[in-house]
Amino acid sequence: MRLCFFFILINSIIFSQERCASESYRSILKSKKLQNELFINSKPKTRIYDQFNVPIVFHVIYNNNSENISDENILSQLEVLNNDYNAENSDFLNIPGIFTDVASSSGIRFCLAELDPLGNLTTGITRTFTDQEFFNMSEDKMKKSSEGGVDPWDTEKYLNIWICNLSGNLLGFSTYPGADSSLDGVVIDYNYIGVNLESSSPYNLGRTATHEIGHYFGLEHTFYAGCSDWDDCDDTPAISTSTFGCPDFPQESCGTIDMTMNFMDYTNDACMHMFTICQTEKMIDVLLNQRSDLLENNYCFYNNILENNSSKFLLNRIDLLGRNFNSHGFYLEIFDDGTVNKKVRLN
Ligand code: ZN
Ligand code: CA
Repeated sequence: MRLCFFFILINSIIFSQERCASESYRSILKSKKLQNELFINSKPKTRIYDQFNVPIVFHVIYNNNSENISDENILSQLEVLNNDYNAENSDFLNIPGIFTDVASSSGIRFCLAELDPLGNLTTGITRTFTDQEFFNMSEDKMKKSSEGGVDPWDTEKYLNIWICNLSGNLLGFSTYPGADSSLDGVVIDYNYIGVNLESSSPYNLGRTATHEIGHYFGLEHTFYAGCSDWDDCDDTPAISTSTFGCPDFPQESCGTIDMTMNFMDYTNDACMHMFTICQTEKMIDVLLNQRSDLLENNYCFYNNILENNSSKFLLNRIDLLGRNFNSHGFYLEIFDDGTVNKKVRLN
């Protein structure tokens, strides 16, 4: 009996984490009239480029040292995102043969924003001490400087990701396109950012952010409406409900083999590997229409700041008259080893 109780306890600990609350968050925003109905008659622009650079600002909001996660942790998250969104994740090879034809790369790459909204150089990471010991999803305090959080940077130009201690066992949530601009972005509990082999297993490989940014670009859960299959993608088979853990392949429901390894299901981080062609096309469509300012403001321009040479640090960027550079045109990068790069920013 005691053994049985122990088993139930362990089970409830494993499954008590709430993988994603984006759907319920959307319902809350709709009830507050802070969420528009999604794009009717959106006309996709022609896809000219295969590569899209999206600037992220991470807002670390901490009440103690462990919540003030390291730059390395955030950089590992960025690497996971760039791998996952470009089919460069090493576990892409684990996709079962029946799904390899529809597994797809989006071409979306992410950078840490290198200019802040005022045009000053930035690391793309803000750090703010808060009196709040935790934050609730429904109150949105993490997104408000006046309430112990941090106001977003212009949500049309930056993907804002707030990192804080979420109440309960919630891992994260995102807005969908059409949310109020003061709330637009992704929130993730500090335990689940990046690759952290010390803790948080089985959600310690950075896939919470991969999943949530999928919502940010308009994706639904693959299990949305169960066998009715309302995720708007024919290449994700209908699946009766969300999948936790790491199921043996094949798992079946709704008369088909389930794509449990899709990033938009709820499986363990180690067991999700792919977006489909339909999903990546939907995300690009949202990026080119509802979220095109992310691309046009070009805050990912300065991508090679360290130029794979971490012993060399950028001291300053100046224009040809020696003034701090924060605009367009020619400029010089001055490094601490005495070298200078000439560059041009086009827009
Ligand atoms: Zn979700
Ligand atoms: Ca589907």
